Amino acid sequence: MKLLDDLQRQLDQLQAQSLQRRRRTADSPCAPRVTVDGRDMLAFCSNDYLGLAAHPQVVEALREGAGLYGAGSGASHLVSGHSRAHAELEDKLAQFMAPHLQQPRALYFCTGYMANLALLSALGGADAVIFSESLNHASLIDGCRLARAQVEVYPHGDLAALEKLLAASTATAKLVVTDSVFSMDGNIAPLPQLLALCERHDAWLVVDDAHGFGVLGEHGRGALEHFGLSSPNLVYMGTLGKAAGVGGAFVAAHETVIEWLVQRARPYIYTTAAAPALAHALLASLDIIAGREGDARRTQLRMLVGQLDADLQLARWRRLPSITAIQPIVIGANQEALDAAAALYAQGLWVPAIRPPTVPAGTARLRVTLSASHTAEQVAQLVRALNALEAAN
Ligand SMILES: *Cc1c(COP(=O)(O)O)cnc(C)c1O
Repeated sequence: MKLLDDLQRQLDQLQAQSLQRRRRTADSPCAPRVTVDGRDMLAFCSNDYLGLAAHPQVVEALREGAGLYGAGSGASHLVSGHSRAHAELEDKLAQFMAPHLQQPRALYFCTGYMANLALLSALGGADAVIFSESLNHASLIDGCRLARAQVEVYPHGDLAALEKLLAASTATAKLVVTDSVFSMDGNIAPLPQLLALCERHDAWLVVDDAHGFGVLGEHGRGALEHFGLSSPNLVYMGTLGKAAGVGGAFVAAHETVIEWLVQRARPYIYTTAAAPALAHALLASLDIIAGREGDARRTQLRMLVGQLDADLQLARWRRLPSITAIQPIVIGANQEALDAAAALYAQGLWVPAIRPPTVPAGTARLRVTLSASHTAEQVAQLVRALNALEAAN
């Protein structure tokens, strides 16, 4: 059949360009030591930055939540799927983020991808302009596509270019949209300067803190706490499947913004609510993040980042400057990055190679992610392997 032949030809092209992706199948919980495709591996690839995905208290809360609320929600939030667990989680998240927002309220979503689609399509109406940072996550890009607003992309970190665009705009609603921690580079957006621009030009600053929530800031409140920011112009999106270890995401903002999302955001309204048990598990996860144990886990993570920084000795490959758990090593060519990942894998080290279109052409890389559940000895093992591998190439 012609349609199938067309697809197959395109798949063959991907393979020829070393761009085909494959999934590995894990037989164990997310943790530094995992069993993948039947092999025991040491993994540096998850976004479980605090090691909460398999934390006994969180797992037990999930079990308890299933006992209290059953397996599924049964309907969308506006019909009958909104449970006490969802309501408690939203209250707790709003309270947690309160130091950084005005009259805050929070809204829980099934995934961060959906939260971004919801946010941008609901706030980015036909009379709005969205100013989108060029390295934004795919879910923000797709949110821009779903929105009726005009979209202007500004170059990575270029405040002057953004200011020009803002000054020239006569739109009634303006949204500046950015990742806080860039997911493939690990660097942090200049949020204080971006917020100042937004306040000056009467614009929303939409911050996607997928890789900051739980990790950055003294109490784990993320990028806003890291920079000490607070403003009515802020619209905050945090995901709950990364550092929080469970799944879903939330938007926290002024209560008027949240009410608008409840009334108008189609990706929120027309989907079945996430299992209440997940929200119940997240209550336990948030207690850990906000408490002493969260502090200890953030300290451990910072220590491991410092260790990698001090001990990695690279000449040809390029480490991107990053204080976050995302520690990319740029190699360049797709095949060389794949070969490096394969060589590590053969030694029992699981580090993903990231290729275009996820990153720009010619910047294929190893994306090391660290977790508080790694030990210093495990990081030392990775560093030894990387140093030897680069020297041998
Ligand atoms: C992971 C991620 C998302 C999507 O969140 P999910 O809950 O995984 O759907 C959104 N934005 C960024 C920057 C991310 O890294």
